[in-house]
Amino acid sequence: MAKIKVKTPVVEMDGDEMTRIIWAMIKDKLILPHLDIDLKYYDLGVEYRDRTDDRVTVDAANAIKQYGVGVKCATITPDAERVTEYRLKRAWPSPNGQIRGILDGTVFRKPIVAKNITPAVRSWKKPITVGRHAYGDLYKSMELVADRPGRADLVFSPDDGSAELRATIKEFNGPGVIMGMHNTDKSIHSFARSCIKYAISEKIDLWFACKDTISKKYHARFKDIFNEEVLKHKDRLDQSGINYRFLLIDDAVAQIMKHEGGILWAMRNYDGDVFSDMIAAGFGSLGMMTSVLVSPDGHYEYEAAHGTVRRHYYQHLKGEKTSTNSVASIFAWTGALKKRGELDGTPEVTRFGERLEEAVLGCIEDGVVTKDLVPLMTPAPKGYETTEAFIDKVAGRLTAVAN
Ligand code: NAP
Ligand code: MG
Repeated sequence: MAKIKVKTPVVEMDGDEMTRIIWAMIKDKLILPHLDIDLKYYDLGVEYRDRTDDRVTVDAANAIKQYGVGVKCATITPDAERVTEYRLKRAWPSPNGQIRGILDGTVFRKPIVAKNITPAVRSWKKPITVGRHAYGDLYKSMELVADRPGRADLVFSPDDGSAELRATIKEFNGPGVIMGMHNTDKSIHSFARSCIKYAISEKIDLWFACKDTISKKYHARFKDIFNEEVLKHKDRLDQSGINYRFLLIDDAVAQIMKHEGGILWAMRNYDGDVFSDMIAAGFGSLGMMTSVLVSPDGHYEYEAAHGTVRRHYYQHLKGEKTSTNSVASIFAWTGALKKRGELDGTPEVTRFGERLEEAVLGCIEDGVVTKDLVPLMTPAPKGYETTEAFIDKVAGRLTAVAN
């Protein structure tokens, strides 16, 4: 069979530990045999990041800006223990945080749904994608302990020397705690635009939820900016048949439990942190959760939501057999290829991405799975595959379908 030509390059970012092992297998067995593709390769493995003083991460992010589509393997975010383990010069910042900062993007997490994997919530039939605003609020807040009676004020001093704005938070009679947090219009606008871009690209309805009944200025600002952006993009949303709904966060939580899915649920930073884990747990395994970073100007970076699966890697290093789920990593590739095909106007590339996904889901639905999925399946499968055997079976199925 002739290989399918991919018109524009895709940025490939390699990573660490067990996912690096899986990455090479996916590339060799599932991608390169079928595609004639120019991969712009960046090694984001922690050793090479260290060697380049993390320059490689910045270069990779800029390459995504240039080519528009990237696919990334999971990477180590070093802490003190990792600095010793890998003899690093320092604890480099999270590559994902770095890339997100450069692209000014929003991360969307989407579970992969298979017929014989039962979500914890009965009504969930289609993926529920979570869009978490990843800037500000609790995560960039200042806190104080008030250790004695006193008054806490909120003060804003304009740069132009005009009058200060002031509000009393609390007159303390005894000890207590205080927090100040912020967000910026710019970041909220970017977030709203990325959510709209993603909803249009996936053709799914968009929910945004917060608590503007209680927070009439702070949360209300988010609601207003979302409304503004939705109005600006009204034609595109209408053309794609996408409905936008604003909900109170507690109402959204109650409704999601009765919903069939197939929506994008956008949330503020803290809500997104909490509910993305709830949704992930409800759908099953971390090995089945994908993630895509979407920038407001339409650049896309796909990856698995899980980490480098360290425990399995140490098993692998000892020469033991592993059964690590490669599905989310494979879907990172298919997500990138489908998007590449869409942007390039090459349906055969998009179709290849879909066929690879069908091969994976076909295996799962035939009971060919890795160990993590076994307890989630009805009917229960007879056994499970090793890391490599699963990928081989997907490869076999992909080739069989192609012929
Ligand atoms: P992890 O890679 O998410 O794995 C935690 C546990 O979840 C695993 O030990 C395994 O459970 C299960 N699991 C996750 N993915 C799986 C898969 N594909 N197949 C089967 N089981 C899976 O987190 P970690 O091992 O604690 O973290 C390792 C490194 O990942 C850290 O250095 C962290 O910085 C990094 N990290 C990177 C990213 C990213 O690049 N996006 C995200 C998160 C973490 P069992 O052991 O019970 O089998
Ligand atoms: Mg969380």
